[in-house]
Formats: sequence, structure tokens, C-alpha cells
Amino acid sequence: MNELFKVEIITPNGKVLKGKMRMLNFWRATFDSWLNSVAADSGAEFHDNTMLTEFFESEDKIVVKASSEGVQKEVRARYLIGADGMLSRIRKKLHPDDFSNKTTGATINYYFKGDAELDPNTLYMFYRKEFCPLMFAWVYMKDDKWVVGTGAKENPIAYANRFFKYVEERYKLRGQIVKREGFSSTLKSTIYLGEGNVLLAGDAANLIDFYRGVGMDNAALSGRLAVKAIIRAEESGSKPSKIYEELMKQVVKKIRENSEKQAKRFSSNQELEKSLTSMNMLKDGLQMLIANQINKLLPPEKLIFLPT
Ligand SMILES: Cc1cc2nc3c(=O)[nH]c(=O)nc-3n(C[C@H](O)[C@H](O)[C@H](O)COP(=O)(O)OP(=O)(O)OC[C@H]3O[C@@H](n4cnc5c(N)ncnc54)[C@H](O)[C@@H]3O)c2cc1C
Repeated sequence: MNELFKVEIITPNGKVLKGKMRMLNFWRATFDSWLNSVAADSGAEFHDNTMLTEFFESEDKIVVKASSEGVQKEVRARYLIGADGMLSRIRKKLHPDDFSNKTTGATINYYFKGDAELDPNTLYMFYRKEFCPLMFAWVYMKDDKWVVGTGAKENPIAYANRFFKYVEERYKLRGQIVKREGFSSTLKSTIYLGEGNVLLAGDAANLIDFYRGVGMDNAALSGRLAVKAIIRAEESGSKPSKIYEELMKQVVKKIRENSEKQAKRFSSNQELEKSLTSMNMLKDGLQMLIANQINKLLPPEKLIFLPT
């Protein structure tokens, strides 16, 4: 996998701001498989190709029904953590009104194979409302292909095509699109952490931070805090959802603050340009350098998430 250690921010007016930041550039399937092996090594029982189809409470247990290649399974547990992503079946059962009957947003990636006047070790971030109205649109190299992607609440394909055309012309792409992929959601943008003995983590709880343009760090932290809440609930006899809510206070506060900042920033291209001054970028860069050093000393739950 090629390494990414540089960033280039392209502002609405076309100004280019360059910086250095080491990033992990990996395929999700490889990463998820590694995560599963870590969990299995720690004693977790892993059921591959198994889908939760239904759950309900019965006496003091949660009965989970699952299907694995046509074979039905049943598991009884005291607690259930819904880490089943933005189309969470568990959340749908608890809070059906949190889902719309039409798409609430989608992300699209085009994989391009060929030559381009682009640097393979740079993540290019394009801030312009016509290319991405939610956060930045991106270009980077993964293995031997350029990934050109964006996301939008409405008309995502129009955004993706407009952005691709721009990148194609600006960076003289010569080759062809070899794959297109899309991820769409029907989840409305509210955070919900579950109730009683059923807790929601990551995208299922809607913990994506569009201001920072990431969701995996909050997903990992919330998963960890959900387990911590269950352990504390076992010790104290309190409801895990209450303890979880308390443990998640800072995470939720930060996402809400960032969401407000993002709405202001994306109110117009002028605001966006203003938020991306060289001085602001320098400040962010310095903050990240310091945070990187401090993080070496901090325990997992106290880590300063990057970008800040
Ligand atoms: C195109 C794209 C690019 C992104 N890039 C980044 C990035 O660079 N950095 C970053 O931090 N974030 C990124 N994100 C966001 C990030 O992927 C998510 O925030 C993160 O993966 C959330 O983790 P999760 O475990 O909550 O959900 P997911 O990663 O979605 O995992 C949910 C899992 O649950 C499984 N599942 C679903 N339903 C069931 C069921 N009924 N039974 C059993 N299993 C089920 C799914 O198969 C999946 O494996 C990106 C998102 C997209 C769409």
C-alpha cells in the first residue's frame, strides 16, 4: 500500500496550502479482518458472514436472532452493543423515526487507473461547495489507483461527476475509471446512544465528525466506552445506558460543537475561504504537532484526536 504523508488543501479560490501529516492508508477489509483477529485472540467468539436479523428482550435477557448463509442462530445475552453502522438494524428497532424513507446522504468514490500530474504520497483535500457541500472532496492513491471521491446529502452523483471532471482537467488524468462505489444512508443526523442494556457505538450512534472529516476514531472510542459502561454497570447495578451517556459526554459535546463550526464554515464559499487562511492552517498544524507529542504519553481514552 502506498504511503500518504503529505496533505494539500485547495481552497474555494484555488489557493493551495501544503503540509505534512503521516496517515494510514489501508483497505477496510484488511483492517476489519485484523480487528477481528485481535478480538478473537482476546477471547471473543467471532461468527463470520452472520447477520443479526432480529432482537427482543425476554425476561432478563436479550435474545438475538441471526442468519448465517441460510442457517438460523440464536444467542442470549445480558447486553447488546449495536456497532452495525449507519444502517443499523438495532437502532431501527429502537428508534425507527431516526430513519428517513429516502436517502439522507451518500459518499461516492471513483477509482481511476492511469497517469496524472498528482503526487502519490499526498492526500488532496478540495474545499469548495460545488464539489462537496458537507466537507472536503478528496483525491489520493490507493495501491495503483487514484481514488476521487466526494459526498452530498442530495444529488451525490452530480457532485461526483462534476468533481471528477474538474480533477481530470486540472491534473491531466490519462486512463480510465475502473471502479465506482457508493455508500448511502437513510439515518437522520441525530446522535443516539441506545437505552437500557442496548448500547449504540460508532456510525450506528451517528458519531461521524464532518468538521474533521473522520468517523473511525469516535467509533473505536465509543466501542471501548460502551464496554467500560457495561463493566461498571455489572459492578454497580446501574443501567449501562446511563453510565455510557456519562462516559460519552465529551465525545458528544465535541461532535456537536464541530457540527456547528462546520455549518458556519459551509454557509458559503467566502466563509470557507476565510476558515482556510494560511494563519489558521499554521495554527492547526502547530496544534497537531503538539498533540502528536502529547498523545505519546496519554492513555487510549484521553488521546487527542487528529486532525484537531
Ligand atoms: C467512503 C468513505 C470513506 C471514509 N473515510 C474515512 C476515513 O478516511 N477516516 C475515518 O475516520 N472515517 C472514514 N469514514 C467513516 C468511517 O468509515 C466510519 O465512521 C466508521 O467505519 C464507523 O465504524 P462502525 O464500526 O461504527 O461502522 P462500520 O465500519 O460501518 O461497521 C459496521 C459493521 O457492521 C456490519 N453489520 C451491519 N449490519 C449488520 C447486521 N445486521 N448483522 C451483522 N453485522 C452487521 C457491517 O457489515 C459492518 O462490518 C469513511 C466513510 C466512507 C463511507
